[in-house]
Amino acid sequence: MEILVKDFVKENTDKLDAAGISDASVDIWLLLEHFASIDKSDYFANQDMKISKVHAEQIEEAVEKRIKHIPLQHIIGQTEFMGLTFKVNENVLVPRFDTEILVDEVVKYVGDDFLKVLDMCTGSGCIAITISDMCDNATVVASDISKEALEVAKENNTLNQTEVTFIESDLFENVEGKFDVIVSNPPYIRTKDIESLEDEVKIHDPHLALDGGESGLEFYQAITKQAKDYLNTNGMIFFEIGFDQAEEVSNILEENGYQDIVVKKDLAMNDRVIYAKKG
Ligand code: GLN
Repeated sequence: MEILVKDFVKENTDKLDAAGISDASVDIWLLLEHFASIDKSDYFANQDMKISKVHAEQIEEAVEKRIKHIPLQHIIGQTEFMGLTFKVNENVLVPRFDTEILVDEVVKYVGDDFLKVLDMCTGSGCIAITISDMCDNATVVASDISKEALEVAKENNTLNQTEVTFIESDLFENVEGKFDVIVSNPPYIRTKDIESLEDEVKIHDPHLALDGGESGLEFYQAITKQAKDYLNTNGMIFFEIGFDQAEEVSNILEENGYQDIVVKKDLAMNDRVIYAKKG
């Protein structure tokens, strides 16, 4: 038996809505595309389109998981970032759209130059891998303290046919050599704020990837200070920051002698990226 896509979308969107899942219909369309290869534009061209019982059952099973606030990306095991596909699981922070702003700035800076780039706290590898993909002459190294995260990052490196080198390291502990660019989206949520995040983040993203200590600034302080020893003269540091951290991170950079500090906003007009030159 086949079911009309129209009815199926309505019924399952209503189920997610009732469970308090925001943007429910977006999730249903992503599930349709993933499990049944039905995309919204195909559907609009043919509104009598039907979905097979097998696909409907697979999606209904996924909807039951989504109702429990399991992130959609964990249910389908992957996500898109900068047009590339990344495998994700509970050991890595799900790549956020906001982080594309950070990668954009690094890619603009690196261009076609033969530069050495370090991605500190790489997680899924999304930052390092997209830079490696887009900057043909860059040498990209990525580090993380989590062995489990690095396993995911290495798979993503293979999946995207990029050439990132990975290091298991507590910040700079096992990092060697000098870099022209250090980029990082470190954990930056204040410990006390983690409780108020939505379940998808609080329960399913690794705490290790979120918790920036009491001030939320601990990683910026440590990385900014230590990075000076690992950056070449005129080397650049790029960070993703929380919407209310531009001033504090800017102060940390200044105190450590960095110059030409620039803050960039995300599409929601929140401060999201900061970069500066080693003095
Ligand atoms: N931006 C992420 C969030 O809002 C946090 C990422 C991080 O701590 N680096 O959950």
